[in-house]
Amino acid sequence: MTTYVGAVDQGTTSTRFMIFDHAGEEVARHQLEHEQILPKAGWVEHNPVEIWERTRSVIQTALGKAGLTAADLAAVGITNQRETTVVWDKNTGRPYYNAIVWQDTRTDKIASKLERDGHGDLIRERAGLPPATYFAGGKIQWILENVDGVRAAAEKGDALFGTTDSWLIWNLTGGTDGGSHVTDVTNASRTMLMDLETCEWDDELLALFDIPRAMLPEIRSSSDPEGYGKTDAHGPFRGEVPLTGILGDQQAATVGQVCFEPGEAKNTYGTGNFMLLNTGTELVRSKAGLLTTVCYRFGDDKPVYALEGSIAVTGSAVQWLRDQLGIISGASQSESLARQVEDNGGVYFVPAFSGLFAPYWRSDARGAIVGLSRYNTNAHVARATLEAICYQSKDVADAMEKDSGVKLEVLKVDGGVTANELCMQIQADVLGVEVSRPVLAETTCLGAAYAAGLAVGFWKDTDELRKNWNEGKRWSPQWDDDQRAEGYAGWQKAVERTLDWVD
Ligand code: ADP
Repeated sequence: MTTYVGAVDQGTTSTRFMIFDHAGEEVARHQLEHEQILPKAGWVEHNPVEIWERTRSVIQTALGKAGLTAADLAAVGITNQRETTVVWDKNTGRPYYNAIVWQDTRTDKIASKLERDGHGDLIRERAGLPPATYFAGGKIQWILENVDGVRAAAEKGDALFGTTDSWLIWNLTGGTDGGSHVTDVTNASRTMLMDLETCEWDDELLALFDIPRAMLPEIRSSSDPEGYGKTDAHGPFRGEVPLTGILGDQQAATVGQVCFEPGEAKNTYGTGNFMLLNTGTELVRSKAGLLTTVCYRFGDDKPVYALEGSIAVTGSAVQWLRDQLGIISGASQSESLARQVEDNGGVYFVPAFSGLFAPYWRSDARGAIVGLSRYNTNAHVARATLEAICYQSKDVADAMEKDSGVKLEVLKVDGGVTANELCMQIQADVLGVEVSRPVLAETTCLGAAYAAGLAVGFWKDTDELRKNWNEGKRWSPQWDDDQRAEGYAGWQKAVERTLDWVD
């Protein structure tokens, strides 16, 4: 009896495997962190071999916890940290270099040169993205230019590029023994190399980065009845399960939050924050600093697009309080510490560690804590950190309203930070809109499971999925308009201070 669907979520800080039943309820999960490798300021890497080991281990442990085997799974989906770039040797299965993570800013010169040379508009128009360190194209170019032997291998078709979805699917489907080299439209839309209209790799864009086409994966639908291959019986599933869903993590959360209608939006609070607004089959070009991206493509249907506001640093600012400042011992303590004060005491924290993403796109920005006086304590810094998460989301929500003309009525939220009740209350206060969190916060994994399950008929259609969504908690704004305006004015002043910091 195949009564469940599994999903791997290969995230920035950890990898998890979850198993869901037909009601979209969790049956089992296991999760393991991997190392954040920080070789120099601005560089962030992961070891792809460690990620693959963690993936194997979480799959086996979760199946073991539930007492299930491959035969119990109708399909498996994958969701992943987007843009993070792996290049590996298809003959040995070994990566040529560590994965260059989406937050890594080593390609700032590549990005600024593209703009200076007048290629910015082509990339914006065709790929829906501004030239930025964030996206994969520059990261591939960096590996081709800086790691010995990779360019020649790429030209011969021996070096393969993939985001971590491709890396894991290649390994899960047999690796050097004929693994599938595929990705989906949502992941491909984050490379600066895909034409958003045709959903194919674009030769003109490839030429800008000097990337050989032979190293790129095949672009497939996010939910694909043909499947990307079956799991290898010698792998962690110890049996064959069809792999039929791939979605970049933010698109997966949008699907998990059942935002299937144009105008529906969600905000995910993880390492960074990502707000996505479904714009239907229409491609909306942003004038307010958002990205245009593929939201999902199911089977042969037309691709559905989204506007996205990406924020680099939100939950990771809380990690910074823990790991670098040492003022909390765990992420959840940010809430109790911040609750010791009534307000931010005049302190604003702009965590522009990787420059500022949406809606500013300023790679020259760096972080700042401003407004300090002798009176301030750790608690104000903790409160300012939670506020920063919410103010950055307000910047993005305002841009979305400008671009789409849709006024946000309620914000659906998910992700690790939404466990922080104070932060969610501040979010409602800062936005002046209701904030709603579903019962199941693991919407990213669920979205990947939905994509996989739809492909094999485990779920009939998106209407069936809608019925699985249940509200867990809702927060209403408590600030008055003056408080809201004053708070936001302080934030905007603080943001100003962080710009033009790096040449
Ligand atoms: P990702 O998928 O990006 O790895 P998650 O959704 O797992 O992220 O969320 C992890 C992030 O959430 C971490 O950056 C962590 O600091 C933050 N986080 C977790 N719990 C809390 C909390 N109670 N309050 C504030 N931040 C939290």
